[in-house]
Amino acid sequence: MRILIVEDERDLATAIATSLRSSGYAVDLAADGATALDRAAVNEYDLVCLDLNLPDGDGLDVCRQVVAGSGYAGTSGRTQPKVIMLTARGSVDDRITGLDSGADDYLVKPFSLDELNARVRALLRRDTANGRSVIAQAGIEMDTARHEVTYRNEPVDLTVKEFALLRWFLLHPDEIHSAERLLEHVWDEHADPFTNTVRMTISNLRRKLADAAGEQPIETFPGRGYILRSPS
Ligand code: CA
Repeated sequence: MRILIVEDERDLATAIATSLRSSGYAVDLAADGATALDRAAVNEYDLVCLDLNLPDGDGLDVCRQVVAGSGYAGTSGRTQPKVIMLTARGSVDDRITGLDSGADDYLVKPFSLDELNARVRALLRRDTANGRSVIAQAGIEMDTARHEVTYRNEPVDLTVKEFALLRWFLLHPDEIHSAERLLEHVWDEHADPFTNTVRMTISNLRRKLADAAGEQPIETFPGRGYILRSPS
């Protein structure tokens, strides 16, 4: 899952990015609204953490444009990102205005990074079936809060990136994912599209799953991509 942090307080932005990256999210940063809109036009974000007070304007305007932006209007097949507002404004009116502008959730500063992580987890799994912190699919169980994975009840020890990749497959089963799509959602803008980092990470993930249970849940379609099949 790929996240954009829009925050002009550099220390806070860095702390949020470090915390979310350690949970396996691909994170990009923008320090003002204009940069945020540029990034959102180019990259396909699953979630945006958005500061309300930005040096070049109101975060509410950025929120409206990100949510209603032409790139997300369904015309290009892109998914509208979830938005968490980060605000020093604690008044009820400001929160209501934020939610009315398309934000899915908000946090009033100062907030704990653990709480932000929990809110991010909750929003990103809102579209999945059970709403719990455990995602179960194709014999795989992933506890997104504890960062634990089992396959056919056998523990699977994954790196942060392998965990992030598997989480993407579990949240989007039965879809063929090209290497480009995986790079877009699981890696950040520093990833070199011409390396074989996606192929290597997939290969390691598949090997660990096969080693755990003697089966392979992720199929390869040569020239097209990869698919996690859920039992029909
Ligand atoms: Ca600010």
